[in-house]
Amino acid sequence: MPAILETKGLTYEYGHGTSMSKVAVDHVDLSVRQGELIGIIGHTGSGKSTLIQQLNGLLRPTAGQVLLEGRDIWAEPKKIREVRFRVGMVFQYPEYQLFEETVRADIAFGPRNMGLSGGEVEDRVRRAAEFAGLRPELLDRSPFELSGGEKRRAAIAGVIAMDPDVLVLDEPAAGLDPHGRDVLLSQIQSYHRLRQNTVLLVSHSMEDIARVAGRVLVMDHGRAAFFDRTAKVFAHGEELERMGLRVPQVTKIMDRLRRGGYPVAPGVLTLEDAIRQLAPVLRERGLLHVQ
Ligand code: ADP
Repeated sequence: MPAILETKGLTYEYGHGTSMSKVAVDHVDLSVRQGELIGIIGHTGSGKSTLIQQLNGLLRPTAGQVLLEGRDIWAEPKKIREVRFRVGMVFQYPEYQLFEETVRADIAFGPRNMGLSGGEVEDRVRRAAEFAGLRPELLDRSPFELSGGEKRRAAIAGVIAMDPDVLVLDEPAAGLDPHGRDVLLSQIQSYHRLRQNTVLLVSHSMEDIARVAGRVLVMDHGRAAFFDRTAKVFAHGEELERMGLRVPQVTKIMDRLRRGGYPVAPGVLTLEDAIRQLAPVLRERGLLHVQ
């Protein structure tokens, strides 16, 4: 698969040339293939937001490049608007950006701005609402009548409706209750599976990242500390903890067992996988009698 999105030496410095300057993203090199679901983790202040805001041209790099299908997005600054349609960004608490009279009009805002015809816009709204798990009868309500979770879905649908090649979500489940988080994560997963497009997911929840991401980028002090398959990254439990990150509980327990001499692989991510690996060991030692 060719890379859809790349960064080369990507660097961003706030207050460049002033005494308050701060390098928030420091020479980051990434290559993301079409169809990947990438998790982005890192302690607060590690540079995640600054990084993603450069991917669709909201921030212009101080140095280095962002390439979309091999083309520098700033090669023609006039075309940056097009890049914003192709790399869709769902910010934290996106529901605060709902402002139209109806949910339908809100979701339609992006596709209409792209100059699509009425029929196509209508079609996009319907499909996006479905992907975001928004019941059709909610489309004619005012966004302000919706529950917190529904508002969040409406805002996400508004970005999906632009049919972006790359969808970037910054903490999409922040502030939702555990059930709401779970449902939203499954929705994102099925959107990714069905659309087969590229998704970048910033999350504080290691469990969520372990569940859905194929590869993980770990940001630390503006640098890409790790960018590898999820299991490989979570096998670096101690280093991640030094960066203020907590690996999933199950990964930690399995790591302890492995260091205690049990023949289990490093970087176990889910309970199912842990059971699969432990069952033969326990059976062999006469500690497990069921299949
Ligand atoms: P994260 O998203 O991982 O929390 P950010 O990209 O928001 O990290 O921040 C990275 C660094 O840049 C932090 O040290 C933060 O204080 C600094 N920073 C973020 N936004 C600004 C800004 N507008 N002006 C100056 N410094 C900023």
